[in-house]
Amino acid sequence: MKRHAFTAAAFTSALLGAAMVSSPAVAQERFITIGTGGQTGVYYVVGQSVCRLVNRGAEEHNIRCNAPSTGGSVANVNGIKSGELDMGVVQSDVQYQAYNGTGNFEGEAYEDLRAVFKIHGEPLTVVARTDSGIETFDDLEGKRVNIGNPGSGQRNTMEVVMEAKGWNVDTFSLASQLDAAEQASALADNNIDAMVYVVGHPNGSIQEATTTVDARLIPVTGPAIDGLVEEYPYYAKSVIPGGLYRGNEEDVDTFGVAATFVTSADTDPDIVYETVKAVFENFDRFKRLHPAFENLNEEEMISQGLSAPLHEGAKRYYVERGWIEE
Ligand code: GLU
Repeated sequence: MKRHAFTAAAFTSALLGAAMVSSPAVAQERFITIGTGGQTGVYYVVGQSVCRLVNRGAEEHNIRCNAPSTGGSVANVNGIKSGELDMGVVQSDVQYQAYNGTGNFEGEAYEDLRAVFKIHGEPLTVVARTDSGIETFDDLEGKRVNIGNPGSGQRNTMEVVMEAKGWNVDTFSLASQLDAAEQASALADNNIDAMVYVVGHPNGSIQEATTTVDARLIPVTGPAIDGLVEEYPYYAKSVIPGGLYRGNEEDVDTFGVAATFVTSADTDPDIVYETVKAVFENFDRFKRLHPAFENLNEEEMISQGLSAPLHEGAKRYYVERGWIEE
């Protein structure tokens, strides 16, 4: 009995010893989740690409990254706020509104939102079936239009545009709320006449829409749009280059925002530091992961489109590189 007790105690202490030896390593392994968008958009590729680069260095920093598909910008801000996400990709207009408590975030300023870097430009992109007869933005009146799922950046921006134009959901014969990844097939199946997407180019969604049905990109112009660009610092005129999609050889005028990478002030600075380091230390590789990243440059990425303060972990890396002053 005595002997048995001794053995059990020895066994227990051996277990404890093992736990003590291995626990620092276990404690150091940290998982981060990056909020993206629909799988046929560009945010999904941003998240996958950042994670790929972070995970390559996992042996040194023990950070494991994943980037699931989400509802888009507004869902990402809300996910970061609730702690469900650590970081996310959000439109620059959504970043501004969330941090300052304007627009759909009226009265709910999220002061702990932090900017990390800017990414690609995102024009407001309207694609219409050729047989719908839609040629101008105003032609959307009376048509079946997917205005975006609640939680998406396009829905948020579209609501601003609709207000500026004096439109509401009754302006359209149908205002559907399909997810970004569902819109192209809805267009091809003739369930909608037009889709709206705030997105980098070229992307899988618009490619799918324009190859499965005859469809064209519609300019988004006029006095209401001019007014928005004049009034808000985060909107700018923008052009979708011709030749990216089947049947769309001409440049198309519209306006747009930028995609940005954000996090919370509560996120561990070491994690943010390692994330930006993984991106900028492998920057050429990163730029090759999607054609929308091709023209990115470091200087613009850390200085433009960011309305929330820089996260201290990102700042530490940028200072270290000599890109910004302490
Ligand atoms: N701009 C869109 C949004 O905020 C997402 C675009 C994309 O997934 O590339 O919801």
